[in-house]
Amino acid sequence: MQTASAPDPEIEVLFSADQIAARLDSLATTLSGRLPREIVVISLLKGSFMFAADLMRMLHNNGLVCRVEFITISSYGDETTSSGELTISGTVPKDLAGRVVLLIDDILDTGRTLHWTHEKLVAAGAAEIVTCVLLDKPSRRVVPFQADFVGFTIPDRFVVGYGIDYAQRYRELPYIGAMPG
Ligand code: 5GP
Ligand code: MG
Repeated sequence: MQTASAPDPEIEVLFSADQIAARLDSLATTLSGRLPREIVVISLLKGSFMFAADLMRMLHNNGLVCRVEFITISSYGDETTSSGELTISGTVPKDLAGRVVLLIDDILDTGRTLHWTHEKLVAAGAAEIVTCVLLDKPSRRVVPFQADFVGFTIPDRFVVGYGIDYAQRYRELPYIGAMPG
């Protein structure tokens, strides 16, 4: 069955479902060449759940074996600019010592989230931490942080869709779009 996704008139589509799928396919191929066969995927909730789910299936198709863990962490609340305060609910997964971690987030923005999480994973004894973000907004960086792998580099726009919300809306959109303004 072919399903047509009617774009929300409020949202400017930046990356269609097909563009996302094509980019993930190429990311998965590159990641599979870079990572060992067995990895621990850590997905930061809620925003990266869809990206992580799709990417993991592609990694499986490339022969990787993934344990998956989640950390719930947020910095935006219901606003469209970062509060600067990280809210962490949930703990860093156990048994990471000596493991290769693929740390996945939706958006690298000020850098606070990944900087904090990366430090925690180093402290937990991970042998290697490879970071992969769907979107990077380099112009917004406050804390220096570079992701190892980036899906798309974007300007300073507030985006939604494909797991990413505005006040808990729009996560179900199959595409990535920008809010007006
Ligand atoms: P950072 O800690 O790098 O400032 O922020 C990263 C987090 O902020 C991302 O994981 C994401 O949850 C949130 N974020 C950054 N930019 C946007 C955006 O354009 N839209 C939404 N919904 N969240 C964003
Ligand atoms: Mg997030």
